[in-house]
This record gives sequence, C-alpha cells and structure tokens, in this order.
Amino acid sequence: MVTLVVAEHNNFNLKSSTFSTISAAIKLGNEIHILVIGFNILKIVKQAARIFGISKVFFIDSSHLYHPLSENFSLQIFTIAFSYNHILFPATSFGKNIAPRVAAILDVSQISEVIDIKSDNIFCRFIYTGNVIATVQSHDKIKVITICPASFESIEDYTGSAVIESIKALPNVCMSSLISYQTNINNFNDLNNADIIVAGGKGFKNAKNFKILRILAQRLKAAIGASRAAIESGYAEKSWQIGQSGKIVSPKLYIAIGISGSIQHIVGMKNSKIIVAINNDMKAPILNISDYYIIGDLLEILPKLINALSDD
Ligand SMILES: Cc1cc2nc3c(=O)[nH]c(=O)nc-3n(C[C@H](O)[C@H](O)[C@H](O)COP(=O)(O)OP(=O)(O)OC[C@H]3O[C@@H](n4cnc5c(N)ncnc54)[C@H](O)[C@@H]3O)c2cc1C
Repeated sequence: MVTLVVAEHNNFNLKSSTFSTISAAIKLGNEIHILVIGFNILKIVKQAARIFGISKVFFIDSSHLYHPLSENFSLQIFTIAFSYNHILFPATSFGKNIAPRVAAILDVSQISEVIDIKSDNIFCRFIYTGNVIATVQSHDKIKVITICPASFESIEDYTGSAVIESIKALPNVCMSSLISYQTNINNFNDLNNADIIVAGGKGFKNAKNFKILRILAQRLKAAIGASRAAIESGYAEKSWQIGQSGKIVSPKLYIAIGISGSIQHIVGMKNSKIIVAINNDMKAPILNISDYYIIGDLLEILPKLINALSDD
C-alpha cells in the first residue's frame, strides 16, 4: 500500500499543515509519497525530499499552477491517483478546495476532517460541532481524506532522503482564475503556524479595549485570535476568528481573554497544548478546559501582565 500526501505550501516553504498531514500518513503505516504542485518550487521539492518517512517526491512545476486552483490541481492529482490507496490533504482551505473535486473525479466518498486513524480503512472524525466523534469505515479502493492539522503533530524531521521525480504539467483548463490574493506580510497573525495565540472575546466590551490585546501579542510574539462575538461586535478582523466557522488552531499556548468558551469556539482551540483563561466569571465554560486561569477584570489584569513582560 502507498499513501500520497498532497503538499500545502506558499511556493516558498511547506506549510505546517503539510507536516501534520505527513504525521497522519505515518500513522497509516504505509509507504509515503508527496506531491508538490506549484511554480518555481525546486526549493520546496528539495525540502520535501529530506523529510523523514517519505520515499518519493513528485513535483509538477508550471506558471499556471502558482495558485492552487482546484480545477487544475485535481486533474493533475487524478493522473497519478490510481497508484495510491490513500490520498491525504490537510483540512485547510487548500485541502478543502481540492479534495472534493479529486474524490468526485475518482467517484469515491471523501472522508473529511479526520482526527484519528484506527486502521487503513477506519477513521475518526468530529460531527455535531465537535460534540460527537464518529468512527467511519470506508470500502473505497482509493480513500480521499482531509486531515485535521490540529489533531496530528507537525514534526519537521529532515533526516530522510527521498527520490525526486518530475511529472509533466497538463495544460491550463482555464475554468477559473484568481482575481486577487492577499498574503500575510511578515507572517503577521499567521494563526495556523503561531506558537502562541492570544484570543479576545466579547468581554473586552469595545474595539478600543481590544487594542490592548495587540500590545500583549507584541510582547509575547503571539498571533491574535478572536471569538465570533468579538468579530461581530467590530472589535476584531474576520480572519482572526477561531472556532467552528473560523480557524482550527493548536498552538503551544492559547490565552483566551474575555471568552466564555462556547462549544463553537472550543472546537477551534481545544487541541492547544496549554490553555490559559482570563475571565471574571468563575462559572465560564472555558475554565473547564483550561490548564490555568485568572479570575478577574481583564482591564485590570492585562496592563499588569503587559508590564510584567519584557519589551524585547
Ligand atoms: C453556527 C454557529 C457557528 C459559530 N461559530 C463560532 C466560531 O467559529 N467561533 C466563535 O468564537 N463563536 C462561534 N459562534 C458563536 C458562539 O456560539 C458564541 O456566541 C461566541 O463564541 C461567544 O463569544 P464570546 O465568548 O466572546 O462572548 P460571550 O459568550 O458573551 O462571553 C464573554 C465572556 O467574557 C467574560 N467577561 C466579561 N467582562 C469581562 C471582564 N471585564 N473581564 C474578564 N472577563 C470578562 C464573561 O464572563 C464571558 O465569559 C458560532 C455560533 C453559531 C450558531
């Protein structure tokens, strides 16, 4: 059996979601190949070839593959799909965009947002907003799977040496094009890859107070997250939302400030290694999943915390 991991990258570096997906592939226990599709990607291809556990790196390099448009990517993947038992994507906007089209072309059922692998055909995934874990079995010959990056460790172990092979690019199918693309300059607020996230909620009461979070984030070199209520109240940007309808994150440290801990929020951050809550309500549900908490008014606690942290 052989597993194919479709790499997520930014044409410069592999994203940490790719490493989590590789961890899931390692758990499957079979030979692993990686497919890197993009433009001017030789550096990434060489990086991928050094990853522990990978035996072969396929790459397809062409200018029209710079942006991961699912129409082009899915056809490219289809050309090699029949050599594989499992095709794994990270369950990020990248994988969620491409995997369904690959599954449809192959006429198989996609297995979405897998959080654990029990065997080569039995997988666990959240349903009902993370309240229930479903264990599902697939009898499809090729299993197209998206992997929840937060559920598998993102380990960068460069002790491998895989064979590298180029695949010819298919012509651009021209069914879609990218109108605009906004990147996170200097990786500011890269929530998916941040070691520390400080997240704010409705408890901040207004946008002016929420700005204190920026200072704390600077001091801790952290990314800033927010609850949906904070975003809907205009305190924070939409792209900062953590939770069911936002981003799923698993930083080393997650500090939830003025966030009650609704199930929709918790599903997005509960796999963080250490969770700290700052809340003035001893009964706030967030405290049930926190490793540490401070009870009190965030407007009194945050300035003290910021002062206590060095500025360099
Ligand atoms: C389909 C659906 C999807 C959703 N998706 C998401 C999602 O992705 N992410 C998400 O976050 N939510 C989501 N929600 C919304 C979610 O249900 C909650 O409404 C939201 O998470 C609440 O945000 P909050 O904790 O900031 O606000 P609140 O629930 O109002 O909590 C505010 C907290 O701040 C504390 N507080 C108040 N004042 C202070 C103070 N001075 N000092 C310290 N603490 C204080 C309070 O004790 C309270 O615990 C979704 C809802 C639905 C229906």
